Amino acid sequence: MTIAIYPGSFDPITNGHIDILKSGTEIFEKVIVAVSYNSQKAGFLPVDVREKLIRESVEGIRNVEVMSFEGLTVEFAKKCGAEVLLRGLRTSLDFEYEMQLAQTNTSLYNRIKTIFLISKPEYNFISSSGIREILMNNGDISNFVPAPVAQYLMK
Ligand code: ADP
Repeated sequence: MTIAIYPGSFDPITNGHIDILKSGTEIFEKVIVAVSYNSQKAGFLPVDVREKLIRESVEGIRNVEVMSFEGLTVEFAKKCGAEVLLRGLRTSLDFEYEMQLAQTNTSLYNRIKTIFLISKPEYNFISSSGIREILMNNGDISNFVPAPVAQYLMK
């Protein structure tokens, strides 16, 4: 069974993340959404809230688990028995950063392979930081995030 982990901050999870995740579950037997956090640095949403919103947003998608981790992604992957990291690519700007990250991760753990899925055009402008910016300016985020996230953030 090929287990993939889909690591990220997911602060908050967006429709772009969900699209990559859905495609990932069609390729791998199990995809673990791995929410990374740093206990020394507060995120926008606490990690338990991010996890809860992801769980509500992935209801109905098969083969998905949601977990959180602190520290190196490759160490978490080892713990899960995963040798695949799933990542999404929106534009060439993502590519430069992602290539460096993938090479770093393989240098740390040579069994790990990063698989990139390309975002659909309708999602490639969506980012968690963009969502936070819209929210801070009282804008409507409901077209960009799953319904449970919109409900939580706009209440
Ligand atoms: P990180 O802090 O690790 O970049 P993110 O939560 O921002 O975590 O993103 C996790 C992964 O999802 C990254 O591979 C990122 O490129 C991808 N991603 C983010 N937004 C989108 C989107 N709109 N479409 C496709 N992939 C995306």
